[in-house]
Amino acid sequence: MTTTTEKLNELKARLRDVADLNSVGAVLHWDQATYMPPGGAVARGRQMAVVGRIAQELFSDLATGRLLDELRSYEESLPYDSDDASLIRVARRDYEKAVKIPPDFLSAFYEHSATSYQVWTEARPANDFARVRPLLEKTLDMSRRMADFFPGYDHIADPLIDFADYGMKAADVRKVFAELREALVPLVRTITSQEPADDSCLKKHFPEQQQLAFGRKVIERFGYDFSRGRQDKTHHPFETKFSTGDVRITTRIKEDDLGYGFFSTTHESGHALYEQGVNPSFEGTPLNEGTSSGVHESQSRTWENLVSRSRPFWEHFYPQLQAAFPEQLASVPPEAFYRAVNKVQKSLIRTEADEVTYNLHVMIRFELELQMLEGRLEVRDLPEAWHAAYEADLGIVAPSDVDGCMQDVHWFGGHIGGAFQGYTLGNVMSAQFFDAALAAHPEIPSETGRGEFGALHSWLKENIYRHGRKYTASELLNRVTGGGLDIAPYIRYLRGKFGELYSL
Ligand code: ZN
Repeated sequence: MTTTTEKLNELKARLRDVADLNSVGAVLHWDQATYMPPGGAVARGRQMAVVGRIAQELFSDLATGRLLDELRSYEESLPYDSDDASLIRVARRDYEKAVKIPPDFLSAFYEHSATSYQVWTEARPANDFARVRPLLEKTLDMSRRMADFFPGYDHIADPLIDFADYGMKAADVRKVFAELREALVPLVRTITSQEPADDSCLKKHFPEQQQLAFGRKVIERFGYDFSRGRQDKTHHPFETKFSTGDVRITTRIKEDDLGYGFFSTTHESGHALYEQGVNPSFEGTPLNEGTSSGVHESQSRTWENLVSRSRPFWEHFYPQLQAAFPEQLASVPPEAFYRAVNKVQKSLIRTEADEVTYNLHVMIRFELELQMLEGRLEVRDLPEAWHAAYEADLGIVAPSDVDGCMQDVHWFGGHIGGAFQGYTLGNVMSAQFFDAALAAHPEIPSETGRGEFGALHSWLKENIYRHGRKYTASELLNRVTGGGLDIAPYIRYLRGKFGELYSL
């Protein structure tokens, strides 16, 4: 007779092996996106596929299911939020999903994604949509098949959205997006009908090394722990976790655009602060990461926008930035700089978009994903549909597909479906969480003005980070705010901040 403790230990040992294999896959991906020469692409695709397949086979093995069954009564004897009950609950949720996906399909999908990603990195600078088109068609086909492993959905995107933002469906997202659109469109119209902010002070020559040094200094102040992380350069910045002790970020730099690299760095540091803050005892379990794409994004946007684009932040850091770049910035007054980093404009690139127009970029992508999955939009018509949507929503059209449908990595390295809604859900939640943090610590803005982030970082660690995946996004929102997803705080924040900058 095996005891409950023995069974739990057996489950934990198995989950640790799965987590370690997934980390091996993450290292391979990090290397692919940072230092790997292009010649490594084909073999790397195969290597990532085999590691992914072994992890999947080990996790979805019948033995995992048997242990989860045998531990059900133990789980039910514990409080919902105890570590063991949460571990078993979340592992079971993942297991029930994993067993529905045939291992052969999954490894084929990994391999396809790696090839598609590599081709995209070459085709994008060449503006060669024709080259990625057949790969994207295969991605769409595989995304549909992936959804069909989860029959009974209301919308074919639902299972794919659920992977990223557990518990959300296309209809829920559409509802939130419609409410937001109603508030945002007039705001964008009012602001962009005024004289645009002058951001020429950001477009001077800023040498890469000084930019990197300044970014490092700032995120270290936030609390990003470089003894448990590092920063490298890539095309499309991301954060990745190999273990509690190794949470890395990547960034990119343009020497003629100061904001490009800096806000990408603070953005990714927000993701990394979340991962570095997860309870270390969750290492090797499915609890050891952020709980959803939306909550993750709420944290990157907190540090990128609510903090790094705020007035108190620059009150402290602008003199230091001027000291780092005296030639470029000595004659630029602080107010002019603050307006420049908060310039609102109708633009083409999501990752560089300002806070007011950003969500319109996300809504365009989300709708295109749904249309492709529904079969209402063919991949070959995607470039035109993209341009038409930008024309309709933002009144501008990209001169090429580089800044059109080829600008984001998501569809070229993962599914079509579920890839984008998290960004906007994250913006909405960031304001909800930040309001709660401010209510608990009204001193946060004055601390920020001194370049100190202890109260904010500790509050986030205590209320969000340490829980990892123990709570779902809606449980977390409920614990923190006493309610559900609510756009009101976010709209209030935008109206307050941009109302002061522009006449609204
Ligand atoms: Zn992000």
